[in-house]
This record gives sequence, structure tokens and C-alpha cells, in this order.
Amino acid sequence: VQKAPFAAREGRDTIINLLREQPRTSRAELVSRSGLSKATVSEITNALLAEGFVREVGKLQINRGRSRVLLELQPRARLVFGAQLDDRSCTAIIADLRAEPQFRAERPVLGTSPEHFIDAIVACVDELQPHLTAPVLGLGIGVPASVDPNGRRVTLSVPYGWRDIPFAELVEAKLQLPVLLANRAKVAALGELWQGANPGVNDFVYVYVGDGIVAGIVANGSLYFGSAGGAGELGHITVVPDGQPCGCGNHGCLHTVSSISAILRSARARRRQADLDPATDDPLNTLDDLLAAVEHGDPLVLETIDETGVYLGLAIANVINLLNPSLVVVGGPVARFGAPLINAIRREVRRRALRESLAGIEIVLSTLAEQEGAIGAAALVLDHLESISPDTAGRLAADDDD
Ligand SMILES: [Zn+2]
Repeated sequence: VQKAPFAAREGRDTIINLLREQPRTSRAELVSRSGLSKATVSEITNALLAEGFVREVGKLQINRGRSRVLLELQPRARLVFGAQLDDRSCTAIIADLRAEPQFRAERPVLGTSPEHFIDAIVACVDELQPHLTAPVLGLGIGVPASVDPNGRRVTLSVPYGWRDIPFAELVEAKLQLPVLLANRAKVAALGELWQGANPGVNDFVYVYVGDGIVAGIVANGSLYFGSAGGAGELGHITVVPDGQPCGCGNHGCLHTVSSISAILRSARARRRQADLDPATDDPLNTLDDLLAAVEHGDPLVLETIDETGVYLGLAIANVINLLNPSLVVVGGPVARFGAPLINAIRREVRRRALRESLAGIEIVLSTLAEQEGAIGAAALVLDHLESISPDTAGRLAADDDD
């Protein structure tokens, strides 16, 4: 890999993003759309040409017989890994420079410690590695936790009781590959932005519902992190004053009524109240048990899912009033409940949100087949190419280079 001078690298993200948005672009167009100087744009594009990121694809005739060379991004000149950590599994992909998935691997997570999750990531990357056809820039990971602003450390995970863990460093030590982290809802929002069913939508909220509940907020086409990286902690807004205690120290958080563990607790309580005999009834110990019960039309479990949707809808109505998004995407494991859940959410949102904010809004289940997190984790790396050093990038696939 030929190294670009540091000064030129400053604008690399911008130039690569512009080339991704518009397939055939001249240097003059890049100058006017990036706001960078002519000298900087040529320095960057020359480096990208030398590194194989872009190629020349003909000329655009302009006046008096002059012409401009058109450049095109080579989407598979470099690859990235993206991994999403759900509560019980890791989904990882190899993606190209547009974050388009090339290969996918999935592994179970066998416990709740950081090491269990890291083992699943390493197993996925080992499985994907033989499919690499170009050097790898890095690995992005959507983690079930809050992350520091540099994308290096896990600061807090309430469901798993994690605090201040050097997660990126731990993964880098095992894979010798640059790693960037973000909360799994934030990367899933990025996945929707890059590859979702609603291209051109730049103001939306992705709500991840699983063991934890977090919102990924996209404002003006960019992920919103907040002042210290903690934006979007939807699970810890209060929906039941004086409700159940939450792991965060508050009471009645959304987490206490709409997370997977809360749904299981509530469904079992309904059965007890109805005096059902637990010995003859199907067990309700996992999300899969709940999904099976919904499929069989179990009325008590359906009632529980409806109530879950009401609380989520209540919280989402507040988000809509606050941020005025044009789209709300509900994803994560709980989205697998499908129609009974999304219908309850829509009904409650219509009851509560401002009519002006509801005009033209769509509230949908994610359509990226549970890959949005992995796609978004890949996009996270592509969004931060400047912080990925060319010295370390591509090490994993060095044998395939040249
Ligand atoms: Zn809480």
C-alpha cells in the first residue's frame, strides 16, 4: 500500500464519499463539491489512483476542445469487516467500499462476558478470511454497550454489567487489525443510511430492541453521538413513574418494560395470574419461546407483546416530538414479533405524537434481514478512514496484495 502524505489524508473521507455518491466524477467537480483546494484534491486523487481505490474511466468533453478526466471508485479495491453483536449471536460480513455485503458468517455468543462476545467475533472473522479478495481496511463492531467518543472503549452496558472495558484493544490483540466500535443501535442506523430501503432519507431514528433498548439517531445524514458519545439511551427514559427499579439506578425505565427479559417476566406473570399450570404449558424462557407462542396465537403472550408495543410507542412518540424524523425503523431481536408489535407501536404513536410531526412519517420494521448492524459496522470504518492508519490497514490480507 502506497502511503499518502498526511496533509492529503485529511480530506480522503470526503473525496471517497463524493466518489461513492456519484460514480463518475471529474477532479474539478470534486474541488467544487468538497470545498478543498485544487492542489489537495489532486494530491488525494493521485494517491487514490496509485493505491487502486479509483481508476480513470474516460473523459468529459467541455468547451473549446478541452476535456476532464472522469474518476470512478473501485468498490472492491479494499474490503472491510463489519460485525454486529446481538444478545446471543454475532453476525459478521465482508463488505466493499460501498458497505455492500460480500460474505456473511454467524456464530453463537456463549455467555455474557466481553470475552464471550470477542470469541464469537474472532470465530466469524476466521470463517470469513478465506473469502477475502483484497486488503482489509479494518473491522467495525456494533457492541451492546455505550462507547467512548473515540470508538475504542466500552463505557457501560447495563444488561451485561460491563464498565470501562478496552474492547477495541482486546479484539485488535487477537486479530491484528484496526478496530472501531459504536453502540449496536448506532451502527444499525448507519446500515439503514448506507444500504436501507429508504435511500435519501437523512433524518431518521433506528430503535434497537433486544436485551437493551437504544436509539441510533441520524440527523442531516450523519450519526448523532451527543457530547460524550451517549446520545440515544432510549431504554433509560422513564415511562412508568415509580415503576420497577432499573440497572441504571432509576425506576420505571423503558428497559424495565420492553426489553426481552421484561417481556418474558410480564408474559410469565400473566400466565400465573390466569392460573395456568406451568407443568402443562409450553415454557417461556427465551425469545424463541415467545415467538413460538405468538405464532400459535397464544392470547396472553399476544397481550404482552401489545403492551410492549404500547410502551415502545409511548417512548417513540416523545422521540418524534423532540426530533421530527421522517422515518422510525424498529429493529433488533424483538422486531421479529412483526405485525402485532409494530401495529401496537403505530397505534400508540398516533395517540400521542403531535399531528404536525406525524405528517408523512413512516414507522417500519427493519428490512435488512438482521444484517443492518453488520453493514453499518462496515460503514463505520468507511466513515472514519482517516483514523485508520495505512501502516496497519491491509495487514490481514497482506499475502493477497501485489
Ligand atoms: Zn434505566
